Amino acid sequence: SKTAYVRTKPHLNIGTMGHVDHGKTTLTAAITKVLSERSGGATSYVAFDRIDRAPEEARRGITIDLAHVEYETDTRHYAHVDMPGHADYVKNMVTGAAQLDGAVLVVSALDGIMPQTAEHVLLARQVGVDHIVVALNKADAGDDELTDLVELEVRELLTAHGYGGDSVPVVRVSGLRALEGDPRWTASIEALLDAVDTYVPTPVRYVDAPFLMPVENVLTITGRGTVVTGAVERGTVRVGDRVEVLGTGTRTVVTGLETFGRPMDAAQAGDNVALLLRGVPRDAVRRGHVVAEPGSVVPRRRFTARVHVLSAREGGRTTPVSTGYRPQFHIRTADVVGDVDLGEAGVARPGDTVTMTVELGRDVPLEPGLGFAIREGGRTVGAGTVSEVL
Ligand code: GDP
Ligand code: MG
Repeated sequence: SKTAYVRTKPHLNIGTMGHVDHGKTTLTAAITKVLSERSGGATSYVAFDRIDRAPEEARRGITIDLAHVEYETDTRHYAHVDMPGHADYVKNMVTGAAQLDGAVLVVSALDGIMPQTAEHVLLARQVGVDHIVVALNKADAGDDELTDLVELEVRELLTAHGYGGDSVPVVRVSGLRALEGDPRWTASIEALLDAVDTYVPTPVRYVDAPFLMPVENVLTITGRGTVVTGAVERGTVRVGDRVEVLGTGTRTVVTGLETFGRPMDAAQAGDNVALLLRGVPRDAVRRGHVVAEPGSVVPRRRFTARVHVLSAREGGRTTPVSTGYRPQFHIRTADVVGDVDLGEAGVARPGDTVTMTVELGRDVPLEPGLGFAIREGGRTVGAGTVSEVL
């Protein structure tokens, strides 16, 4: 049988973000390779083509999508999600990024800032990712002067979004050369990991709060039942605990818990887990649902929020929105239609930051400070934070 997960170090969730082809997946593979070659054997190498597969193909057993890889430095255990770069996948990035304790922004030293670089920084800010470390990738192929310029440009971008660009670590790396084993560049990956270890603080986990987990995926394991996967937002859950699937009337018992394919007795806030639910039919639970301690949360549908309406340059709309606008709201892993009321102003132009009242098409757990994205016709048009639940 499989070895149990033993919690020996703080666990953090991080991820790569940035423009397509800047080297996110290559860097992710390189990190696991460099760490797997350290003594101790805590990290397994995950090759590029195992990370870059579509999640549907990668689903296996009750393990989590392979776009999540795990690794250990001397001081920490990390779950790392390699976020897709295409604009079409921003939605996935939003739902993934909501759980991140920190992010590695990958910028090609050859190309500099591209539209999705800026879009991801903006979304990271909106969904509450507080710490970014920059990997200036492809440094093997760039010249120093150009790379210096790109670094300046990246620091400015981060400052513009409230990340204090002057103090953010910017590490020149080559994922590709590190994968090939070139010692100069494997050292660059070590330097990047040191920056992540020291710059991204160990988060405070609300392990004593009532358990809550947004559902990312639902799987059926033949002979065992229905499994939901996701990152625990708060609290602790143990095998044998009762839980409810909010808004569905389903109450059940957790009969199994796993992280990265290894059984565990208790999962806590911040962990990426799979929960086996007793007697729950496959179609009773979906991505976007929330599993929580019974009676601990009352889902709601009306709230006020501060929202940044993306400018056309940020990939947003070219025309204003007005009261009566009905886009999709991406809240945690859920995707819900909502009616927008802009109050006295009545309109908001691309580039504006405004206060709005929203009435969702269904109840979801809401609380002040919760981040969300607004999408329309497959693209992100706004990013906001809940101010007050009404
Ligand atoms: P992603 O779309 O951001 O995940 O980018 P990939 O990891 O798929 O890499 C895109 C392309 O850039 C591939 O052809 C890689 O081989 C190349 N690449 C990635 N990292 C480096 C690097 O450090 N140096 C060079 N020269 N090329 C790289
Ligand atoms: Mg990729």
